[in-house]
Amino acid sequence: MNRDKSIALFDKAKQYFPGGVNSPVRAFKSVGGNPLFIEKGDGSHIWDADGNEFIDYCCSWGPLILGHNNPNVRKAVEEALSYGTSFGAPTRKENELAGLILNNHRFIEKIRFVSSGTEAVMSAVRLARGYTKKDKVIKFEGCYHGHFDSMLVKAGSGLATFGTSSSEGVPASQISDTIVLPLNNLAAVEEAFRQFKDQIACILIEPVPANNGLLIQDSEFLLGLRDICSTNKSLLIFDEVISGFRIGFEGAAGYYDIQPDIMTYGKIIGGGLPVGAYASSKEIMSCISPEGGVYQAGTLSGNPIAMAAGKAQLEQCLKEGFYQSLQVRTRQLADNINWHCQEKNYEARVLTIGSIFWLTFSKDGKIQSADQIDGDSMSKFTNFYNGLLENGVYLGPSGYEVGFVSEAHSNEDIEKTISTINTALDKVFA
Ligand SMILES: *Cc1c(COP(=O)(O)O)cnc(C)c1O
Repeated sequence: MNRDKSIALFDKAKQYFPGGVNSPVRAFKSVGGNPLFIEKGDGSHIWDADGNEFIDYCCSWGPLILGHNNPNVRKAVEEALSYGTSFGAPTRKENELAGLILNNHRFIEKIRFVSSGTEAVMSAVRLARGYTKKDKVIKFEGCYHGHFDSMLVKAGSGLATFGTSSSEGVPASQISDTIVLPLNNLAAVEEAFRQFKDQIACILIEPVPANNGLLIQDSEFLLGLRDICSTNKSLLIFDEVISGFRIGFEGAAGYYDIQPDIMTYGKIIGGGLPVGAYASSKEIMSCISPEGGVYQAGTLSGNPIAMAAGKAQLEQCLKEGFYQSLQVRTRQLADNINWHCQEKNYEARVLTIGSIFWLTFSKDGKIQSADQIDGDSMSKFTNFYNGLLENGVYLGPSGYEVGFVSEAHSNEDIEKTISTINTALDKVFA
């Protein structure tokens, strides 16, 4: 595979950006080598600067549930563009996207648009603290909630409830109210509520943790969190930046039929443009400025071009059978790879939920907490990954990243991917 142009572009980029990128995983550090510079995408396929073509399962890290360059999304963007790009005043387009979402979602009554997932979660945590008048936040090891200070925490050693910062530049005071617990362990949550009685504003969780492998939780665990929050007058926040509009239109709340207090969105909601959102009941949302005292604002919030893209995308997600059809193709991909691995006795499995999938180099079909992931097995991923690239399949460049099937992935794409992945596995285990 010729990568000359991507290599030259990366050399240039390294002069401009730290590590040559504007977001760290893009640098390909964990798979070795040089990132591919992408020239264009269409449907399920992308092309790099050297003209190499790939079936893409990164899909911009999840937003592109219809695939690249969807004609309806593009048309909506072009049409919106002809009216100007931004006004800093309300527009009809915000109402249209909000109406579409709220009329088709049983778990939320009011919404506020922001410009990224990070901003959505940061604002949701502030809202929970403002509403409950409590300060502490429970989060789980293995969940990602964006890059604001108080969430850049990893579990401390041993039984310590308070974590240590996972980034330089985060003062200890910023994380002193963040409690980090293991996933799928209700006893640990109950213990934290005993220890910090009446101090916990909220439990924040990715109900489908998909940022550190795919750690599918028992529904009893999620239901248990719901109960604990209700009993203790704390709020349950579902961070649905990945799972929202992905596991179904109503996301994980709909999938598990659990009513969270606040939900956060990003990725799919903007149709490939930068949009995030947080949403809740009318009562809780009334705490947000200018109605209430919890401040939150944004110069480009509700940007009309982004609203138009989000609406055009979500309208298509509402089509009859949309999610079932994605799930069927994702299952087909996973099942065929898992049969191959079982037959050959390979230590590898594909785990899935909805149209999210994750390949783990383990035989364990039930991985539910971060400490169950074998870090050493990631060395296999590098070979595997490069085998896929050579044969025209593009995944996010890290063994901890999940893949996404979009509406644009055809049966032919899926079949080609199955054989490419199975061949790459044969090489890894040869
Ligand atoms: C991607 C993601 C975020 C952060 O969103 P950005 O748009 O990258 O700021 C937060 N939470 C979850 C669950 C995510 O998947």
